[in-house]
Amino acid sequence: MYDFIIIGGGILGMSTAMQLKQAWPDRRMLVVEKESGAARHQSGHNSGVIHAGVYYTPGSLKARFCLEGNRATKAFCESHGIAYDACGKLLVATDELERQRMEALWERTAANGLEREWISGEALAEREPNITGIAGILVPSSGIVDYAEVTRAMAAEFERMGGEIRFDAEVTALEERTREVVVSTNRGEVTGRYLISCSGLMADRVVRMLGRDPGFSICPFRGEYYLLPEQHNAIVNHLIYPIPDPSMPFLGVHLTRMIDGTVTVGPNAVLALKREGYRKRDVSLGDMAKMFSDPGILRVLGKNLRPGLAEMKNSLHRRGYLELVRKYCPSLTLDDLRPYPAGVRAQAVTRDGKLVDDFLFVNTRRTVNVGNAPSPAATSAIPIGAHIVGKVKELVDD
Ligand SMILES: Cc1cc2nc3c(=O)[nH]c(=O)nc-3n(C[C@H](O)[C@H](O)[C@H](O)COP(=O)(O)OP(=O)(O)OC[C@H]3O[C@@H](n4cnc5c(N)ncnc54)[C@H](O)[C@@H]3O)c2cc1C
Repeated sequence: MYDFIIIGGGILGMSTAMQLKQAWPDRRMLVVEKESGAARHQSGHNSGVIHAGVYYTPGSLKARFCLEGNRATKAFCESHGIAYDACGKLLVATDELERQRMEALWERTAANGLEREWISGEALAEREPNITGIAGILVPSSGIVDYAEVTRAMAAEFERMGGEIRFDAEVTALEERTREVVVSTNRGEVTGRYLISCSGLMADRVVRMLGRDPGFSICPFRGEYYLLPEQHNAIVNHLIYPIPDPSMPFLGVHLTRMIDGTVTVGPNAVLALKREGYRKRDVSLGDMAKMFSDPGILRVLGKNLRPGLAEMKNSLHRRGYLELVRKYCPSLTLDDLRPYPAGVRAQAVTRDGKLVDDFLFVNTRRTVNVGNAPSPAATSAIPIGAHIVGKVKELVDD
């Protein structure tokens, strides 16, 4: 019997496993992951940005954990020899409406305790000659890293302390009993005194396996990227972000310097017709049937029909996508948009049709389940893991 079983070999599962082992070095612990390695889903398909905490509602878990996570991620990288670059981020307003929205973000960055600098149009042109805008906010603490590498380093720490990881082990059923949780996998049954689920795109299904109604469903949104050709590797000096429309849940297509020296454009946000469907042609009839019979998801789609269709159109036509980025980087052409792997975001949606904004956890007597952990959850992985360890400490009875 294990003391703790953790479902999920993404960054949240590995961060939690590592910190549980640090808290209880003598307890037996197992991570079960259905893929053949760590970080095969969201944690290995993202923008690689160490977010600073610009956008999040002051006082929310996202705001708190992102700020803490920014420092903790950099410190973890330093102590584990992982490359990161604190290159800073520039939010760029291209017209008067965006400048007004930027003022609201300026206030928010203050409320969230961030160091930042207001940049005039002239100063912007000096700092970023290839970027066009009327004003900007510079946030120096934003950075870049490879989160798959961070996840693998956390997994290695966990194993070094004696934790076990079982890959290719898909959890198919769960039974929470008075003194233990029985975990059935395609590689046999294991029992743990406590269970932690960090199962990303499958978060709601895992809670349902416990016989609980999670109160939300996961809606998968694919984020598609393009890679700029090598001659554009120095096209920007910072991460360049548009000013987001506050009514939209995602940040808008940005220019991201990657830690390998390349620059990507993206991601957009299109409804994925398969939970782990990375290509446009990936379709799961089962996932679709569940999605289109879910009242919350149907409400979200209904409310966002126009922007949703626009995103889909730009996904199918590169020219539309290009125009989104040409707004602030006008020198780019269609030839500059080269293929790059997409990611799929796990976004929780409530039954009454709201996108859950903050990180969300569902606890039972012997389990802690991550319910909603979209961006900036990779940045926040260390504080989220610490938060889960705190929750587990409340559950543990001896
Ligand atoms: C396009 C995109 C861009 C993003 N950009 C950023 C960014 O720049 N900065 C940032 O901070 N965040 C970003 N994020 C968010 C971040 O990547 C995620 O919030 C984070 O990786 C979530 O980690 P996780 O461990 O919860 O999920 P995952 O990495 O998805 O891991 C969940 C794991 O659980 C496993 N699993 C699921 N069900 C089972 C089962 N039944 N049995 C066994 N294993 C199971 C899966 O195989 C998977 O490996 C981005 C996300 C996307 C998709």
